Amino acid sequence: MIRTRFAPSPTGYLHVGGARTALFNFLYSKHEKGTFVLRIEDTDIERSTIESENQLIDAMTWLGLDWDEGPKMEGDFGPYRQSERIEIYREKANELIELGKAYEAYIYPEEIDKIKEDLLSKGKPPHFTEEMISQFNSEERKEEYMKKYKHPVVFFKMPRKDYVLNDLIKGEVTFKNGAVGDFILIRSNGLPTYNFAVVVDDMMMKISHVIRGDDHLSNTLRQIAVYEAFEVEVPKFAHVSMILGPDGKKLSKRHGATSAEEFRNRGYLPEAVLNYLALLGWSHPEGKEILTLNEIIDNFTFDRVNSSPAVFDEKKLKWMNGNYIRSADTDRILKLSIPFIIKAGVLTEEQCEGNKKWLKEAIELVKTSVEELSEVPDEISIFIKNFEPDLENKEFIEYLNADGVKNAFRITLDKFNNDEDWTVSTVLDNLKIAMKDAKPAKKPFYMALRKALTNQFHGPDLVRSVHLIGRARAIERLEMVIE
Ligand code: GLU
Repeated sequence: MIRTRFAPSPTGYLHVGGARTALFNFLYSKHEKGTFVLRIEDTDIERSTIESENQLIDAMTWLGLDWDEGPKMEGDFGPYRQSERIEIYREKANELIELGKAYEAYIYPEEIDKIKEDLLSKGKPPHFTEEMISQFNSEERKEEYMKKYKHPVVFFKMPRKDYVLNDLIKGEVTFKNGAVGDFILIRSNGLPTYNFAVVVDDMMMKISHVIRGDDHLSNTLRQIAVYEAFEVEVPKFAHVSMILGPDGKKLSKRHGATSAEEFRNRGYLPEAVLNYLALLGWSHPEGKEILTLNEIIDNFTFDRVNSSPAVFDEKKLKWMNGNYIRSADTDRILKLSIPFIIKAGVLTEEQCEGNKKWLKEAIELVKTSVEELSEVPDEISIFIKNFEPDLENKEFIEYLNADGVKNAFRITLDKFNNDEDWTVSTVLDNLKIAMKDAKPAKKPFYMALRKALTNQFHGPDLVRSVHLIGRARAIERLEMVIE
């Protein structure tokens, strides 16, 4: 049975890198019809917050990365929050002590720092050995120590040997003997270190595949050693390469929006974000880019995951989002756009409520050209907002003065004045009549008309835009340029 897990530390938002890790774990578990576990790694009490945990959970839910076991989805291997498993780590540390694979010491944090400094000052790597630590293990120190601290520090006896990892993405990785020294499993505050808690949990939660960022590769060495100490099977590892910004540096805040929340707040559709994230390192066998979740799941295997870093290209994500918006159901886009429209002050909640039909038609039109829902308010305001005609604009004046254009405008105006039905097709018919009777060249007429009615030269379908502008406003705007 394939079991994967996403194990975020709740210390901030769900960033692009974390979201991609979560997605790859999700995809692989679905591809293999296995189980996807969400585990909250909150033993860093100073940095972990419940707000951040809630944000992570919200972002995962929004993306549709539903977990089979984890918070709010209790399964057979819980609890799924590390802060609720503290006793388990202590028991497991005791098991290793009994097996002679770990040892305790009543050593103060400053003493640990001192040993490190001494080693470094002698030009040696800061690796602990049992011999160095054991002098702090005396019974005499115990009483004094336990007044101040909760727990003796537990160190793991790191076997001094080579380790070889057969990573599903990176291939064979060798860690030479002596790469690390003995390391801490349980701290003086009684809490486990990341490297220990993660092994205990992955082992007890029967995780078969650990898929995570390759910044964890050096931790993997320590973790393999702990698995071996427990004499259990080591899970398979798949270390995914970093995500870089367009400048080739590690993706960070400097590169703009980097969290799932930010994309959500700017009006990205979750399926567009998922599709894009999947392509950060993985590719479809036929190079297809716009993919349904099922197409991704069906083709998600590690041999299709690239071992070199992926570049995060926000423009491409935006383009992809535009594609998804265009093909999405209008009612859905309408519902998602309303908060943006209200927030931008283009329409009030009551106005949205009272003009549903108009708004739906407007969304139907602008959804063909926006790439983020945050662009919807501006697009819609063109149909509503008053503006002075831009009669200083040279291009506009040239189009207006072209043969037959003003005459065509006059006919259009007359037709609009008499068009009581005001439907998309009557608008179209009237424009056709104006074209036929005044015979202006097509381009200047339509460019001038668009500029006169929308104050811009480019935009979505003109006839439908004119219909949305409405008869009264269209007449008023035309009159302003003819006089
Ligand atoms: N809590 C760790 C992190 O957020 C998890 C790493 C892992 O997947 O083992 O980086």
